[in-house]
Amino acid sequence: MTGQAVVVGGGMVGAACTDVLARLGWQVTVVESGAVGGGATAAGMGHLVVMDDSPAQLALTSLSLTLWDALAPQLPAQAEYRRCGTLWIASDETEVRGAQPKQRQYHAAGRDATLLDAAELARLEPALRGGLAGALRVPGDAVVYAPVVARFLIERAGAQVRRDEVTALEDGCVRLHRGGPLRADLTVVAGGAEAARLLPEVPLRPRRGQLVITERTDLPVRHQLVELGYLRSAHGSDEDSVAFNVQPRPTGQLLIGSSRQFGPAGRDIDWALLRRMLGRAAEFLPALADLSALRIWTGLRSATPDHLPVVGFHPDRPGLYLAVGHEGLGITTALGTAALLGADITGGASPLPGVDLGLGRFTGALHA
Ligand SMILES: Cc1cc2nc3c(=O)[nH]c(=O)nc-3n(C[C@H](O)[C@H](O)[C@H](O)COP(=O)(O)OP(=O)(O)OC[C@H]3O[C@@H](n4cnc5c(N)ncnc54)[C@H](O)[C@@H]3O)c2cc1C
Repeated sequence: MTGQAVVVGGGMVGAACTDVLARLGWQVTVVESGAVGGGATAAGMGHLVVMDDSPAQLALTSLSLTLWDALAPQLPAQAEYRRCGTLWIASDETEVRGAQPKQRQYHAAGRDATLLDAAELARLEPALRGGLAGALRVPGDAVVYAPVVARFLIERAGAQVRRDEVTALEDGCVRLHRGGPLRADLTVVAGGAEAARLLPEVPLRPRRGQLVITERTDLPVRHQLVELGYLRSAHGSDEDSVAFNVQPRPTGQLLIGSSRQFGPAGRDIDWALLRRMLGRAAEFLPALADLSALRIWTGLRSATPDHLPVVGFHPDRPGLYLAVGHEGLGITTALGTAALLGADITGGASPLPGVDLGLGRFTGALHA
């Protein structure tokens, strides 16, 4: 089946879906109310990371990293793709023991992962404070500047981009704020945090994050550095949380994250939370305290109750495909999401057998 497809949203997820649709022979129109590659895509860190918080997350991130590996050689230099790997840092022996099952999970998913002792960690990352217990090194992880990738994929697809807002989704068309209705044999909703306005039945909540970029520095930081406690922050309670997460940029700057906050919908900076975040980062990389921040910004992740995206046909609305709720992993998992879309519309075998990311996992009870 091919025809006219409308993709709502030109962020990383919409761009990846556009790319797959075009390769399958669809005529694609991307409707984007802001800038292509804007939204959360422009606010994120661009860490391409395998995460193992749940079997489904491990499968989706692992598939996605394989797809990023294949895409990387085609990307323009401005996409700044670098396979710097991730070091998951253990502060103490308890965290070292916790890294062992994590390593086994990575191996089971076919991803390389090596346990480093304290001396090896200090040799690889001498700017880290002394006294850390070790790390799990995942060399296949990478970083990318996602807005450029989103623009690249949409241009490569030859898709038409309409600068407008989709105000309603109807059978066979989408309603636009400025233009007339747009015919669509298939509509893919990839609207990030704003998708909740079009899809009130999908349980999406904005989860705000803040990032800081420093001035240029000679500080030797080679990997994306993340504390092992990050998962507690990423998938923990409703409370505001921070975790050490630092990325070296090709410019010599350091990108510092990360914070998570349900509740505030706006993009104002929460200075108290920012102080907590920077304090946590300086506990691991003390020299950060001497650097100036060049820019601070916030962005909205779009979270579901189980921290997995909603990917699949809408159970009640024919021709409507959902690609939303990617929370803090949407740059990574955009490519896996698009692969699922490709399999679903061609009737091909799922690239993630046994993994159900459909909306029915939340609404099943209502339909029962
Ligand atoms: C601080 C922070 C750090 C992050 N770090 C990482 C990371 O390191 N690695 C990672 O993998 N992920 C990371 N993420 C998550 C990642 O950025 C998001 O999951 C991802 O960008 C989501 O992409 P998207 O295309 O779904 O949404 P978006 O990028 O938000 O794009 C959605 C687009 O849809 C448009 N839109 C919405 N509704 C409409 C409408 N009705 N009509 C027309 N247009 C519409 C919007 O204007 C927007 O441009 C981070 C996020 C934040 C906030």
